Amino acid sequence: MAQLSDDCFSGAGELMPTAQALALLDERLEVVCDAVPMALRAALGRFLAEDIVAGYSVPPHPNSAVDGYAVHFDDLDPECETRLPVTGRAAAGHSLGRASARGEAIRIFTGAPVPPGPDTIMMQEDCREEGSEVIIAPGIKRGANLRQAGEDITAGATILHAGSRLRPQDIGLAAAVGRTELAVYRPLDVALFSTGDEIREPGQDLPDGCVYDSNRHTLIALLDSLGCRVRDLGILPDHPDAIGGALEKARDGSDLIVTSGGMSVGDEDHVKAAVEAFGSLHFWRLAIKPGRPVALGQVGRVPFVGLPGNPVAMMVTFLRIARPVILRLAGATDLEPHAFRVAAGFDHRKKAERREWVRVRLEADGDGGWIAAKFPREGAGILSSMVEADGLIELAEDVTQLKAGTLVDFLPFSEFRL
Ligand code: AMP
Ligand code: MG
Repeated sequence: MAQLSDDCFSGAGELMPTAQALALLDERLEVVCDAVPMALRAALGRFLAEDIVAGYSVPPHPNSAVDGYAVHFDDLDPECETRLPVTGRAAAGHSLGRASARGEAIRIFTGAPVPPGPDTIMMQEDCREEGSEVIIAPGIKRGANLRQAGEDITAGATILHAGSRLRPQDIGLAAAVGRTELAVYRPLDVALFSTGDEIREPGQDLPDGCVYDSNRHTLIALLDSLGCRVRDLGILPDHPDAIGGALEKARDGSDLIVTSGGMSVGDEDHVKAAVEAFGSLHFWRLAIKPGRPVALGQVGRVPFVGLPGNPVAMMVTFLRIARPVILRLAGATDLEPHAFRVAAGFDHRKKAERREWVRVRLEADGDGGWIAAKFPREGAGILSSMVEADGLIELAEDVTQLKAGTLVDFLPFSEFRL
């Protein structure tokens, strides 16, 4: 198992552009999970821990793409019908058992191995049988309807790459080359707690001045969706000793500690004090909106990510910072979501040198395209805006004024597997 350095989040400057933050994470972090063999069925959604090299070609033998007749193209009259004797039969799983010579046609069915000799398959719709002969219409091309051995996969080719997340089609491809098991990374063990004297667990009383803990439940769901194993340490008061005790507990047996809250200026000190009792902590002030500083550090050798308490800021910083950290530690190689160009449905002014994420819903433009409609309320605490939204528009640092109709980058929540 890889060992991270003692202080892998150090060196963050004042206000940091997102690209710099991501580059730092990329450079400093590596997979900490061991590889384990996994049956195909259980491997879905896991991160592949090995390159998969095909032990077989697919298809393993030349075969017919249609029901019809296997023939030698040079036997066919290009202008008129051709009459050939039907001298054998090949079906899927039942080969002819011999080569086929010039001057004969072999009755053949979809998926049947094509015997040595014929180079073209006539579709049965273009033929008619008379007694033991077949009459073939002119006009076919050489090689038609014949699937070559290895036309999908050649033995020896790398077909799946370590670090990719296994999708149903990946599992199928592994099966197509005869694999029954794949090496995948074990799930990342993530310890989690909320901080705040005012935070209460749903189901309990809600005294004056308190709020229910939505962040921990959002985070558990986010971590589940990324395939992590969650250790839920509950809600902690704003007290360094309580936080210290939880960190000590979380350190053993976790690969990562994620918390929310306690990131406001007054609170930073005791979170910092608690983490620094065991390791190091740095506040990364990202040039993003919405967002607050994210605390990155280590408790012993275990990375620590402290997210802000405001529910939207928490989610956005999770997606921007915690998610790449998790994916990297868990063995994934593809960390960035794909953006799609859509038309902005709103005017927008923003500060330069800051990356901004706008919560939007997609609306059909009536012409086959999409318009991104902005959610009217923008506060970092308005969690319902994340529920209403289909995703986020990402406005780059150099944008200061956006006009409705301009094409912008849309990141659907589905790109984050939300
Ligand atoms: P903090 O980062 O602790 O200063 O919290 C900022 C805001 O987010 C405050 O209004 C908190 O009440 C709220 N908040 C903090 N933690 C949570 C949580 N776990 N669930 C919902 N709201 C929270
Ligand atoms: Mg707080």
